[in-house]
Amino acid sequence: MRVEVLAVGTELLLGQIADTNGAWLGEQLALAGVDSFFHQAVGDNQARIVLALRTALARSDGVVVCGGLGPTHDDITRQAIAEVMNVGLHRDPEVAERIAGLFTARRRTMPDSNLRQADVPDGATVIPQQLGTAPGLICPVGNKVVYALPGVPYELAEMFTRAVLPDLRRRQAQEGLQGVIVSRVVRTWGLSESRVGELLQPRVAALDAEGANPTIALLASGIEGIKVRITARATDTAAAAALLQAEETQVRSLLGEAVFGVDAETMESAVAAQLQVRGATLALAESLTGGLVGSRLVGVPGASTWFRGGIVSYASDVKFDLLGVPEGPVVGEAAASAMAEGARRVLGADVGLSLTGVAGPEPQDGRPPGTVFIGLADAAGVVSCTELHLPGDRERVRQLACISALDLLRRHLTRSAAAPAAPAGPAARSEAPAGGSEAQAGGSEAPAGG
Ligand code: ATP
Ligand code: MG
Repeated sequence: MRVEVLAVGTELLLGQIADTNGAWLGEQLALAGVDSFFHQAVGDNQARIVLALRTALARSDGVVVCGGLGPTHDDITRQAIAEVMNVGLHRDPEVAERIAGLFTARRRTMPDSNLRQADVPDGATVIPQQLGTAPGLICPVGNKVVYALPGVPYELAEMFTRAVLPDLRRRQAQEGLQGVIVSRVVRTWGLSESRVGELLQPRVAALDAEGANPTIALLASGIEGIKVRITARATDTAAAAALLQAEETQVRSLLGEAVFGVDAETMESAVAAQLQVRGATLALAESLTGGLVGSRLVGVPGASTWFRGGIVSYASDVKFDLLGVPEGPVVGEAAASAMAEGARRVLGADVGLSLTGVAGPEPQDGRPPGTVFIGLADAAGVVSCTELHLPGDRERVRQLACISALDLLRRHLTRSAAAPAAPAGPAARSEAPAGGSEAQAGGSEAPAGG
């Protein structure tokens, strides 16, 4: 079954509000196993709403219209639907009484225009209003259907769930088409979109050959990395979830450690999970990001159990005096390494992460904008120092530096957790929770010791 969404409202076209109803409805239709191949937005103009409705009905089995059910002269969704149905409007006494009652209950006089909301196209079924004043409508058009819902998001959601979904289910059952469509997003960082595409290509081809269920799609999401969306269709939620799970495993095996999470899992929550599992604490020294990394990390609930804090060591002498960076260039490997160790020591953490670089627009220390050094230290000393050359303007460089640093930390933690216990070295030390207390003791040393 195919159903389209038609959002009505000139404010949508002018960009004054975003069509969040369309997005929500799209998700709900997919969850209900309904195909939705087109979304439209149209202004408050009867001729154009009629055109949009006819266009939608020509290629789909149903349309969910949202908005334009209000009491004012520019709310003309009802009239447009009546025109498409080729019927007149009648005033529904029950709806009229309900609207009048709402006003009486609030001790207000009802403007006559409110009764327009009781006008119903002949042959349509009213979805009684429970939250607002406008009722919804279920309007048969031949063997197809137009659902009209109010624009106010919570009113729309309530009516969709209460009345539209059951009606869709009934129609699907008549056609023997019941099912669900669910999707999951696998999130990656560190690979280009084309590389992700290459790695997944054999799997995509295999799925196509097997009937394209599930399907795989790539979404490039800028500083949030490349997302891989898996969409599965099945007769029920459990069967769909099993398909998703199996496919996620396939995708993970093809993309390896570039995968940092699924759906709402963020890079910072992935880092948090790794630190938590190992009972390790983290300290930061941030220069060009000015606290961005710390800010993202404290967005994770429970951050206080593993996040010691961060030093925004922006001025060079703060790097020298507080963190023990050797006199010399502050954008470079030596500086980043000393910052990571300094943060660890000063703040008493198991792991220290540092960022120093050139956000731009001007070069610094003879290095071009976008040059960033990320240092990582633990009880064993400096684990790594990574030089990056990031593209974009000042803001983009800072954001990319932030997520790159979190990703380096995540990969380090994941690898050292996976590595077998070695007699020495970062992996062995950071695995032992005891390393944490050692590090904390070290941290109580005077900062000048660095
Ligand atoms: P009411 O029943 O309250 O009279 P209505 O059916 O006339 O509503 P609109 O007047 O089009 O609907 O929209 C009411 C409010 O709902 C808008 O001001 C806007 O905030 C919100 N809204 C409308 N359409 C959308 C949409 N597509 N996405 C998100 N919000 C929307
Ligand atoms: Mg309106």
